[in-house]
Amino acid sequence: MSCKVLVLGAGGLGCEILSSLIHYEFINEIHVIDMDTIQLSNLNRQFLFRENDIGKYKADIAAKAILEMIVGQQKKVVPYVCDLTTLDAQFFSQFQFVISGLDAIAPRRYTNQILVNLTLQSNYEICIPFIDGGVEGLKGHVKTIVPGFTACWECSIDTLPSEEASNHPMCTVANNPRSIEHIVEYVLMISNPDADLDDYQVCENLLRECQQRAIEYNIDSSTLDIKSMAAIAKKVIPSVSTTNAIIASMCCNQLMCIYEDLWDPESSSNFSTVNGSSGFYIYSFQYDRNPKCTVCSI
Ligand SMILES: [Zn+2]
Repeated sequence: MSCKVLVLGAGGLGCEILSSLIHYEFINEIHVIDMDTIQLSNLNRQFLFRENDIGKYKADIAAKAILEMIVGQQKKVVPYVCDLTTLDAQFFSQFQFVISGLDAIAPRRYTNQILVNLTLQSNYEICIPFIDGGVEGLKGHVKTIVPGFTACWECSIDTLPSEEASNHPMCTVANNPRSIEHIVEYVLMISNPDADLDDYQVCENLLRECQQRAIEYNIDSSTLDIKSMAAIAKKVIPSVSTTNAIIASMCCNQLMCIYEDLWDPESSSNFSTVNGSSGFYIYSFQYDRNPKCTVCSI
C-alpha cells in the first residue's frame, strides 16, 4: 500500500516530525502545510532552516530541506503555504495519516471535525488516523485519534489548561507582586493596557517602568529585557527542541504501530503525556470517548 502522510505545521515540532518520517520506507509521499515565514528566533529549534531562509515560507523550505536528505529515494514531498482551515474534506481524504505539530487549537479542532465526519459520513469506509503532538516547554503530549473508534480530539478538550487558570490573581499582581511576571503584568496590563508592543520606543519606556517597580518591591529584574518582557506579556511558553524531538518521535512511532497493525484502537493507549520538568516521566493511558462530545457522539 502506498502511504501518503499529511503533516500539519513546519515549526519546531513539524520540522522534527518531517525529519523522522523520511526514515520510514513505507511512506511514499509526505505533504506539509504551514502558512508562516521563517524568523530569526525560529533557528534555535527549527533545524531544517538556515539564516538565509529568513523571510521565506516554512513549508517550502522544510520540503526542500527534507528532499535534500532523501536524494535518490522515490519519495514525493509536497508543500502547501496556506491556512489549513481553508482546505476541505476532499483534500484531507487523499491521505492515510495526518500528523499535527501545531501550536494552535482552532486548526486542530477543524482537522478533527473533518476527519471524524469523513469516517461517520462514509459509514466507516474512510478512516484516517490523526496523531496530534503538542509541546509546552519541557512538557508534551501525543493524542492518537482513530475516528469512529477512539476518543476524538474534541473529547479531551477539557484537559487543556484554561486561560483563567494560567493567569495570576489580579490582587497579587497589583498589591503584592512576588515575581518579575507579576511586575510585567501590572505595568503592561493595568498601567499601560493599550501600549503598542511593536514600537521599540514604547517598549523601552515600559521596560524602565518595570525595572523601577521591581526595585520598589525588591524583585530582581537583572535578566529582564524587551524580548523577555514581551514574551511574559504575550504569555509565550519557551519552546524546547529536545521536547519537540521526543514528542515528534512518539508521534511517528504511533503512525508506524498503526500502519504495521501493532496498535489496537479498542485497547491500546491513545493518550500519552511527557513531563521533563522534574525528572523525566512518560505516562500513557486510554482516554475514553466523551458520550456528549459535540463532534464524535452519534
Ligand atoms: Zn469526540
